[in-house]
Amino acid sequence: MGSPAQAIHTMFLDVKDLAVRKIRIRKSYAPGTVDYRTADFRQAEPLEVRAVAELIEGQIRVTGDLHTRLEMVCARCLETVHEDIAREFDLFYKPVAYMSKEEEDRLKLDDTEIAFFEGQGMFLADVLVEQVLLALPMKAICRSDCRGLCPQCGVNLNNDECRCESHAADPRSAPLARLKQDWFKKQ
Ligand SMILES: [Zn+2]
Ligand SMILES: [Zn+2]
Repeated sequence: MGSPAQAIHTMFLDVKDLAVRKIRIRKSYAPGTVDYRTADFRQAEPLEVRAVAELIEGQIRVTGDLHTRLEMVCARCLETVHEDIAREFDLFYKPVAYMSKEEEDRLKLDDTEIAFFEGQGMFLADVLVEQVLLALPMKAICRSDCRGLCPQCGVNLNNDECRCESHAADPRSAPLARLKQDWFKKQ
């Protein structure tokens, strides 16, 4: 068995294999082995996946579910927040070569949820990354009554009081809060 990092990159759903039989997938990806290409969150616990991949009339169908726990940043106070992510999916991927120009244009207008694969198949990792991103909350908040940061001095108002006169409702307007957020994203 290879390292987990290798495992995710070798999980290739090949149309030739799928033409013979459906593939059952049951995998657990440790934090750090899936590249989500974003600094908005980190995977904090294994990504557990159960899925079935099959070929139906030339299309790859992937059905299943996944769950994991992510580490995010509270949009108000910038403290760490853990979010449990769970999602079921039933997806079809068409071979990109079979699509005519007109069909392509129509799909762009339709906003239809049809995805494509190129060549011999696709990586399972690409499916999983997309599904995790779709499952993200719009905004992570540590608790519904989070008071955020003071826009003037940057103090976390959940833990401390400060002597500043007013506290704006939206801490994102604060230059200091923004600086801190930018700093986090670079980490
Ligand atoms: Zn908060
Ligand atoms: Zn203050």
